[in-house]
Amino acid sequence: MAQESLTNEAFPESLALSDDNSILEIVWDDGRQSRLRLDALRAACACAVCQGHHPSQSLNLKPEQFPGVQITDIAPVGRYAYHIVWSDGHDTGIYTLKMLYDLGSGA
Ligand SMILES: [Zn+2]
Repeated sequence: MAQESLTNEAFPESLALSDDNSILEIVWDDGRQSRLRLDALRAACACAVCQGHHPSQSLNLKPEQFPGVQITDIAPVGRYAYHIVWSDGHDTGIYTLKMLYDLGSGA
């Protein structure tokens, strides 16, 4: 009962880069497969640097600003998110599983 909010979300079974390292492929344990463009993922970064603490502070990033951006490092944060380090030096991005799942459904 105490963990209901953690168990009703899909969890990644595998993550892999494809298409010349331009796509992050995630296989979820509910059977869904997501293909996330790295430039779009970089632009969607929800950290305070990119989005500010208020909508007026948002950098309003677009995928076109990150041609050829690569993932330098990706590491799980607990069981709810991934910390991604980008080839442009940006290393404060935390991507929650829900965000990755939702991004995959729109692309
Ligand atoms: Zn960011």
